[in-house]
Amino acid sequence: MTDCIFCKIVNGEFNTEFVYENEYAVVFKDINPKADTHLLVVPRKHFESLNELDDEVLLGKLMMTVKEAAKKSGLKSYRTVINTGKEAGQEVFHLHIHILAGNIKL
Ligand code: 5GP
Ligand code: ZN
Repeated sequence: MTDCIFCKIVNGEFNTEFVYENEYAVVFKDINPKADTHLLVVPRKHFESLNELDDEVLLGKLMMTVKEAAKKSGLKSYRTVINTGKEAGQEVFHLHIHILAGNIKL
């Protein structure tokens, strides 16, 4: 997707610092944090939302990535959120998983 901000981040176009990455996903800090730690786990492959994800293996890999990124960030307790669709608050239409920890305002 040429016009997708998260595809551009995945492709390194904004020199975003990745706090964790593997072959399936990159993890970086949310630009507008809703908690002391607010990370986004973003699959390298573009899916508009969870509704378009048709790969259950990748879904498992993404959840393992959540766990690995949380561990690397020293988080033992955290919330994961996936917003699916505009009415649910999805603003960026490239599937992503929020990781929130500490003073969560979401
Ligand atoms: P959504 O509401 O779609 O579930 O979450 C999108 C999240 O992406 C929001 O929390 C927003 O702050 C974050 N975000 C939007 N654009 C950027 C960006 O360019 N860089 C980073 N790091 N986060 C972004
Ligand atoms: Zn994308």
